[in-house]
Amino acid sequence: MQLIELKSVYKRYSNGVPALNDVSLTISKGEFVFVIGASGSGKSTLIKLLYRQEKPTSGEIFVGGINVAKLRNGKVYKLRRKLGVVFQDYKLLPKKTVYENVAFALEVYGLKTSEVRRRTLKAIEQVGLKDKVRSYPSELSGGEQQRVSIARAIVNDPKILICDEPTGNLDPDMSMEVMGVIESINKDLGTTIIMATHDKDIVNKMKKRVIYIKKGMVAGDNMKGRYKVDESD
Ligand code: ADP
Repeated sequence: MQLIELKSVYKRYSNGVPALNDVSLTISKGEFVFVIGASGSGKSTLIKLLYRQEKPTSGEIFVGGINVAKLRNGKVYKLRRKLGVVFQDYKLLPKKTVYENVAFALEVYGLKTSEVRRRTLKAIEQVGLKDKVRSYPSELSGGEQQRVSIARAIVNDPKILICDEPTGNLDPDMSMEVMGVIESINKDLGTTIIMATHDKDIVNKMKKRVIYIKKGMVAGDNMKGRYKVDESD
């Protein structure tokens, strides 16, 4: 069974806006996938369906064996355990240190303090911020803040890391630094990466699978793809 499978997925928002129109695709364990498309094409909607921020209007979605479309609200935690999510705007807690921001994501699991410490430091090390554990977000560069949010997203050892425009607020150097971290997570931990992006240089440099969404439909799906988006859509 594929790690992620969408079968004939449609999404129409309550105001009638059609956002996804008959999307079917599969993603295997360990893949690195970019999702590209013009603004408003449906990239975020696709990503939000995967972590059950939105529900499809029709169609089936399976993530790690969970039937996401049928998942009841009380069971969403089962899905979220399989996923880490990274956003464009980091969403860090400003009054907490790097360590506390990452450890916070483990608190709900009732782990022993020593285990929280071990996992937190491992995640912080994976993103290359060992010497910043006691810093506050305001003391970090944008790239470093995004790396903290990545550490927080992987601290539970998720099978899948979902990234929605993670380099959207970063300059090219910091973007590449963040991409290096995301690629190392894919390589070292075998985590499946799904990343929505507008960043042409990154997509062209990384040579990964590229799914192109155009007007809510899959208009391209290429291994070692390039960034090719019709911005007039
Ligand atoms: P992208 O991420 O590619 O910019 P989105 O998935 O955000 O595209 O949006 C796809 C379409 O759905 C757009 O027409 C957008 O205006 C609409 N849309 C997105 N979110 C909502 C929402 N919560 N309510 C109504 N319409 C929405």
